[in-house]
Amino acid sequence: MTAPEHLALITHRPDGVAVGFQQVDATRPHISVLDAGPVRGDGIFETFSVANGNPQALERHLERFVASARALDLPEPSLAVWRDAIFAVSAHFADVDEAWLKTALTRGVEAGPSASGSAPEGTAPTGWVYATESPDFTAARTVGVRVVALDRGLRSDIAQSSPWLLAGAKTLSYAVNRAAQREAARRGADDVVFVSSDGLLLEGPTSTLIVRQGQRLITPPPSLGILAGTTQADLFEAAPLWGLTPAIEPMRASELASADAAWLVSSVRHAAPIRAVDGAPLTVDAELSERMNAFLRGRRA
Ligand code: PLP
Repeated sequence: MTAPEHLALITHRPDGVAVGFQQVDATRPHISVLDAGPVRGDGIFETFSVANGNPQALERHLERFVASARALDLPEPSLAVWRDAIFAVSAHFADVDEAWLKTALTRGVEAGPSASGSAPEGTAPTGWVYATESPDFTAARTVGVRVVALDRGLRSDIAQSSPWLLAGAKTLSYAVNRAAQREAARRGADDVVFVSSDGLLLEGPTSTLIVRQGQRLITPPPSLGILAGTTQADLFEAAPLWGLTPAIEPMRASELASADAAWLVSSVRHAAPIRAVDGAPLTVDAELSERMNAFLRGRRA
């Protein structure tokens, strides 16, 4: 019988190098109230799907984890250690069709407020790998999701103009993403598509947007200040097998409502077809949705 939750803590040397991991009781507390992760959201994470004990899109996630660490000037994650910890935690879910796994790395325990107001000296980072069983996503994958388009309030060139906004890094600061999802619920929708202040389609709060126009599958480029999706990347590699041509290009906000079909895709929920945009119905491409989800479920590391 598989236990519902598993946790491994990464052991770091004071200089930030990861040297090993230890599996611990996931139901016990393990993190300091002075840790920069919970206190400031100052850290990074990845969320993987785990299919019968196999972490999916492993190398794409690890690559993005390293890119996020670089963007935040965190010590470079020692991938051999993280990989071993991910496999050890995933192995508990061999009998589970779908689980999800999170890796998190924070700047570690802070000394407290600094007199100068500048960033305090870091201690060793805090890192962990946690996994549990996934909920049932059948409805989202088949019936689809209703989305609202919300203005992110940021221009599409912020990645170039303002790198300190960390656009494109997967940071632990997801309060804004969660607030947008609550706003969607208030408007009677299930999810969100963010739009830049200059009118370009961006991404969901926890997903990548893919639009079908004829035989083309289109996703907005990460240069617009959005996360480079691992699920979208895997789908775009498979697209030619389905007679589709993948394209990465900017789209105006109006192109969502006029699309032939569209999806929000992400590691754990996989491909959720969009069935309404701001209350107006959008066609669900049931056949392609099923193909995408069967492909995504079948991936192995
Ligand atoms: N964009 C954002 C903001 C996300 O948080 C996520 C995933 O959580 C994605 C896109 C999709 O990325 P992936 O397919 O790697 O899960």
